[in-house]
Amino acid sequence: MKIKVGFGFDVHQLKAGHPFVLGGVQVQHHAGAFGHSDADVLVHAICDALLGAANLGDIGHHFPNTDERWRGISSLILLEECVRLLGERGWALGNIDAMLCLEAPKIKPYIPEMKQKVAIAAGIDPDDISIKATTNETMGFVGRQEGVVAYAVCLIERQ
Ligand SMILES: [Zn+2]
Repeated sequence: MKIKVGFGFDVHQLKAGHPFVLGGVQVQHHAGAFGHSDADVLVHAICDALLGAANLGDIGHHFPNTDERWRGISSLILLEECVRLLGERGWALGNIDAMLCLEAPKIKPYIPEMKQKVAIAAGIDPDDISIKATTNETMGFVGRQEGVVAYAVCLIERQ
């Protein structure tokens, strides 16, 4: 069986009063991620991992922020589209492991719902999705709560 691995990274600015969507879940916080779509940094990193695994370029290539179709859109729809692109080329998603890096708020209570939402969009079992979170120990732009970062890896299998 042929398998491939993919890696994704994303970063967004945090701005006061913005909604904060992570893994398709609205997180309660005084600030939120700023961007063209819903600025879901976690799902964007996952999308880039999927596209990378299949050597299909990056999220900016498929969903340019100059395209009005993607303004304010749920990034879960972008994830569905990435899975569809992989399927067209004979690839099935195996598992995802993702890491959020942000200073606040505490993410742990939201993780089960994030896994559910990502699982539905990705078309895989929630048990095949790992979402973890850490702080940046108050250092740098993440530590100053100016931004939020996410990393993801995924495995894809030839169908
Ligand atoms: Zn992004």
